[in-house]
Amino acid sequence: MKVCNGVKFIFPAISENERTARAVVSAFLVQLDPTVEELADIRTAVSEAVTNAIVHGYRQKSGDIELHIKLLENREIYLRIKDRGCGIADVEQAMQPLFTTAPEEERAGLGFAVMESFMDQLQVRSTPGHGTTVTMRKKLGSPLCRTK
Ligand code: ATP
Ligand code: MG
Repeated sequence: MKVCNGVKFIFPAISENERTARAVVSAFLVQLDPTVEELADIRTAVSEAVTNAIVHGYRQKSGDIELHIKLLENREIYLRIKDRGCGIADVEQAMQPLFTTAPEEERAGLGFAVMESFMDQLQVRSTPGHGTTVTMRKKLGSPLCRTK
């Protein structure tokens, strides 16, 4: 994996930082001149992963979230969102659309489904008691091929 550019951002797992994480992603992606849709997709996917780390990973406990953004060759974006929270016992089950462990908080169980549909690749690694790492990739289209 050849990395052309990248940033690592570490922030406390509090809900205010969902917005901060989206802003960091937008700031990094400016250099690539993404379409409005590409930018919205990536921002939403990051937001879902960061929200999960805050509400499920750490719950009310304090802790940090790491956000890695890398630009790979051919305009491919690599994202990694890592927490050291409670972890997920059954990742396959957690990734099923509509599965949630927090229905009382009006969670829909759609966060992973959103990440999967908005990004080209999604991988979730988790160890109960140690935390969760979500990695995603998305290739941006060429600005030269744009019609608008
Ligand atoms: P929604 O995202 O629609 O508000 P949700 O967060 O419950 O609902 P998903 O984002 O798909 O749905 O996550 C499914 C389940 O996976 C969660 O209910 C939770 O049990 C578990 N989970 C997801 N991310 C984490 C994490 N970082 N740490 C611990 N558990 C997680
Ligand atoms: Mg979620």
